[in-house]
Amino acid sequence: MSPTETTPLLSARGLRKSFGDQEVLKGIDLEVRRGQVVALIGPSGSGKTTVLRSLNGLETPDAGTIAFDGGPEVDFAAPRAKAQRFALRDRSAMVFQHNNLFPHRTVLENVVEGPTRVQKVPRAEAIAEGERLLARVGLEEKRDAYPHELSGGQQQRVGIVRALALRPDLLLFDEPTSALDPELVGEVLVVMKELADEGWTMVVVTHELQFAREVADEVLFLDGGVVAERGAPAQIFRDPQGERTRRFLDRIL
Ligand code: ADP
Repeated sequence: MSPTETTPLLSARGLRKSFGDQEVLKGIDLEVRRGQVVALIGPSGSGKTTVLRSLNGLETPDAGTIAFDGGPEVDFAAPRAKAQRFALRDRSAMVFQHNNLFPHRTVLENVVEGPTRVQKVPRAEAIAEGERLLARVGLEEKRDAYPHELSGGQQQRVGIVRALALRPDLLLFDEPTSALDPELVGEVLVVMKELADEGWTMVVVTHELQFAREVADEVLFLDGGVVAERGAPAQIFRDPQGERTRRFLDRIL
């Protein structure tokens, strides 16, 4: 195997984080290989979002390391970690629970903002790529619409396009469907499944266990700031080893 097949795209070790005196991450290890989809599941408050935000530098863990292949390791116990974590931002792009599209900009303007302003991609190139990606999710006709003119599901698809436009190595999804009306959830999950099939590397925080079961290569069950169980979806869902995992799945499924 070539080095890129054996080296994880992302390797996080021993992530710890407290808010005040509440320790919300108690040593999280996570590895993601290229093309892999990793789902983070678990009860509310178990630390899933904090892990995800740590991976792209939105949150600074108190300790632990994060490394992308080919990039320097960020050691959060080191004095310069706060500055170093910004290096993580370029490697991944996040799709949030509440898409935070700019309300006074059109769909296309929202999509080209990151590439042109942050990455200095020439505007014409960013527009062409933005149009291609909007067509990819069936929203080419909405390029000049404003976010409020779209349904919640369409807004989330624009949120996904905006993330794709940054050409990240890794896509991070933070419960992208949990704020949607039930009838709009499917259209977003379909796009996410297609991206997984196309080979995108993804870490997905989700309550959509059916999606995790069908699409993920690995499922991590978080509980109380630790990975209580991890494994292939077939194993976790069919034959959970831990009592806490079993209770969680019994409640949800
Ligand atoms: P999950 O995504 O599993 O619901 P989170 O990572 O969002 O869990 O939150 C874990 C815990 O950390 C929760 O108790 C939450 O209230 C707390 N928390 C998250 N972010 C902050 C913050 N910025 N300040 C204080 N507490 C926070």
